[in-house]
Amino acid sequence: MEESLPRARVEVDTRAVVHNFGVVRSIVGDARVMPVVKADAYGHGLEEVVRALDEVSPSFFGVANVAEARRVAAVSSKTPPFLLGPSAPGEREEIARRGWGVTLSSWEEAQHFENIAAGMQHVLPVHLAFDTGMGREGFLPEELGSLLPQLSSLSHLRVEGVMSHMPCADEDEEFSRSQIRLFEQCVNEIAQHTELHFVHLAASAGILRFKIPCANMVRPGLMLYGVSPVPCLQAKELRPTLRLLATVTLVRTLPPEHGVSYGRSYMTSAPTRVATIGIGYADGWRRCFSGKGVCVCIRGVKCPTLGRVTMDQIMADVSAVPEVQTGDEAELIGSSQQVEELARLAGTIPWDIFTGLGPRLNRCSCHPAAMPAAPSPPPHF
Ligand SMILES: *Cc1c(COP(=O)(O)O)cnc(C)c1O
Repeated sequence: MEESLPRARVEVDTRAVVHNFGVVRSIVGDARVMPVVKADAYGHGLEEVVRALDEVSPSFFGVANVAEARRVAAVSSKTPPFLLGPSAPGEREEIARRGWGVTLSSWEEAQHFENIAAGMQHVLPVHLAFDTGMGREGFLPEELGSLLPQLSSLSHLRVEGVMSHMPCADEDEEFSRSQIRLFEQCVNEIAQHTELHFVHLAASAGILRFKIPCANMVRPGLMLYGVSPVPCLQAKELRPTLRLLATVTLVRTLPPEHGVSYGRSYMTSAPTRVATIGIGYADGWRRCFSGKGVCVCIRGVKCPTLGRVTMDQIMADVSAVPEVQTGDEAELIGSSQQVEELARLAGTIPWDIFTGLGPRLNRCSCHPAAMPAAPSPPPHF
């Protein structure tokens, strides 16, 4: 099939992802690590990230749905995907058959998986999810007393893990500490009935903020992709993993009093050298960046964008860089502009910017040399 030349692309440094995995290990010591690769590895490209991380022996790859689990399984033969949320009844047969990590949040799921496992004449390992404050999934801790005897009647299920999720590890220390205590009580009670291999609570913010002695696994997402959700010392160890680049498709000089973009949302006041760049909101370059003074970096110079972001193109004032020409590359995310900055301008969070990077973008791996120099050497792991 003939493809058009990519006008905008994401350059991913998978070695930086592996480095950041090492930073997680240096923080959590002996605990196991489940890298979270949902949402196309936060916009980085699931396959490449899984391939790179498979080398450093994670315990599972965290995914959001069965389609992502299949993609993980197609690339990694040694690390199973782990479904972080509930599955649909029609998907459970495949999950059980393929040995993917699974959480139970309800008695209905437990019974269904029991039936499937019985049909397979197999004992299925499962993780129990507990809702210790997130309000999204899991059994309630107060259900535990009645749940344990019920579960013991399901002879084809073996509880090998317990998990929960922290809703405010980045903003409410007191609540998070009480949540950790509650989780620990659940874990202790379950551990009296079954041998637990995996106990996991913390995502990136929890990893950076809290010691959770009862846990032996962590689930980092954002920090693997070089961004810390909380200000902290270890944040400096993380390396950026992604650059967003787009091509200059046209350069012209517009006269004074000429409108730029829909709504003529920018008006030139003097002759202005305007570059048109091949990226728009359909690629994940948010429409709300319009009029916020967001810059793009061309030939090492920050050039302000002009007028509204359109679906496929944006315009930038390159008057300060007369040598700019068609085919030049503009950096939109990278050392000249960080995801955190863009998220702040858009009134959102870095996760949202990363995962908004659309399927039309070409994704490619790069050599680390093409990335901004790392501030510190990688720790041993
Ligand atoms: C997405 C997710 C994570 C990863 O979260 P980050 O904040 O990106 O580290 C971990 N656990 C669960 C259950 C998730 O849904």
